[in-house]
Amino acid sequence: MIVMKFGGSSVESAAAITRVAGIVKARVGRRPVVVVSAMGKTTNRLLEIAALAKQNRIDDARQKAGELKTYHMVEARQLVADASAVEAIIDRHFAELDAMIQAIALLRDFPPSLIDAVSGLGERLSSQIVALAFDKLGMPSAHVDSRDVIHTDDRHTQAAPLYPESYAKLKAVVAPLAETKVVVMGGFIGSTLQGVPTTLGRGGSDFTASIVGAGIDAEEIQIWTDVDGMLTCDPRIVPGGHLIKTISFEEAAELAYFGAKVLHPATVLPAVEKNIPVLVLNSRRPEVQGTRIVSESVPCRNIIKSIACKPNITVMKIHSLRMLMAHGFLRRIFEIFDRFETPVDMLSTSEVSVSVTIDDARHVEELRTELEKFAEVEIEPQRALVCLVGDNIRGTAGVGVRIFRALQTVNVLMVSQGSSTLNFSFVIAAEDLKQAVQNLHAEFFADPDPEVFA
Ligand code: ADP
Ligand code: ASP
Ligand code: MG
Repeated sequence: MIVMKFGGSSVESAAAITRVAGIVKARVGRRPVVVVSAMGKTTNRLLEIAALAKQNRIDDARQKAGELKTYHMVEARQLVADASAVEAIIDRHFAELDAMIQAIALLRDFPPSLIDAVSGLGERLSSQIVALAFDKLGMPSAHVDSRDVIHTDDRHTQAAPLYPESYAKLKAVVAPLAETKVVVMGGFIGSTLQGVPTTLGRGGSDFTASIVGAGIDAEEIQIWTDVDGMLTCDPRIVPGGHLIKTISFEEAAELAYFGAKVLHPATVLPAVEKNIPVLVLNSRRPEVQGTRIVSESVPCRNIIKSIACKPNITVMKIHSLRMLMAHGFLRRIFEIFDRFETPVDMLSTSEVSVSVTIDDARHVEELRTELEKFAEVEIEPQRALVCLVGDNIRGTAGVGVRIFRALQTVNVLMVSQGSSTLNFSFVIAAEDLKQAVQNLHAEFFADPDPEVFA
């Protein structure tokens, strides 16, 4: 068995879904289990609709919901044998959305449990549409509602899987079905053991694919997306990076964590545990070999495998009000970040101050208020985090010199190296990002190792 996950752009239209069906059909002998994201930008649209409802703009919310429904109807009708069946499915889901719009408007609130109920609708719809499309295209399918087999805790919008419970269900339900049919499931969504809908966090369909792969002991997990694989730099920042043919789980996880959106950062965890290779492939160019993520380290002539970045982060500088850093200072700081569930990506400390970077700035003012009870706080928005990743970094002298030389006039505001030994990260002004990545890419990939890069 293999797991094949298709992201939003790979299922954004009838034509895209038809392409997906062709890719799956060509691998049907390997007994694929297909995991799909919501169609196109549906998840964003659903959240925008809910935001309008929260402002009590019910008419605007309903209008946008109507547009989203039409989009699903138009694409789905082209894909199925019996239009009335798919129309009934779409009608039912949008009636549910309408009830939620009313509830949100009434509450003037959009609590996390409701966020999950709303944002999960996209995957519930896309998976049923894709399953019906496969049937029409001559591939008997079985739709499985992911909420019945992926169980999570109740940390809504960022739920963590309950592995033993999920694996047991996947083994009992999905594996036997996959013997005779192409199983189709929605990514991103799950439920608590009490049946309350949850989601695994934005971009979480990759994670679903990996959980499913581990649960059914798949021989391979394929992540089909809109680029040729993992590249040596983020194509949205600097186009023209090289394709990485092979990379280790450790390196891939580091890149994902530091902003390479091509893979959700948690994707490698279940795969590592069961030692299942993960492939990243392009659904528009299925003939390209893609990236293979493997458990062992990958020998490479280049020091760096790739440059990841987060283009818009916030730096918080926290100065102790006492002259020297009192004992307990760090504990107090981190307790506050913990209370507001705000992860810190990078940290640097001096005698009297601590600087941290955060990606999620939703609670920045609350954090400031709490920290100012015992420290002075400066907040610097519009910063960028750059992270060079490669396991040769740990054994190579002089990497730092080459990085700073390549950066030339770009001012480096914070540096971190050594904690994971395979990354070198630093913070710069967001406006310098493109230049910095271009210079670093030219410095480290002038002569790419043909064994590793295509
Ligand atoms: P999907 O909808 O298939 O999950 P995503 O948009 O989540 O696709 O991820 C794919 C995108 O990740 C690419 O289009 C690309 O812009 C971005 N990306 C960022 N860093 C990298 C990288 N190092 N290699 C490849 N893609 C990257
Ligand atoms: N549809 C979800 C999102 O947009 C999950 C995913 O695509 O991976 O975040
Ligand atoms: Mg994604």
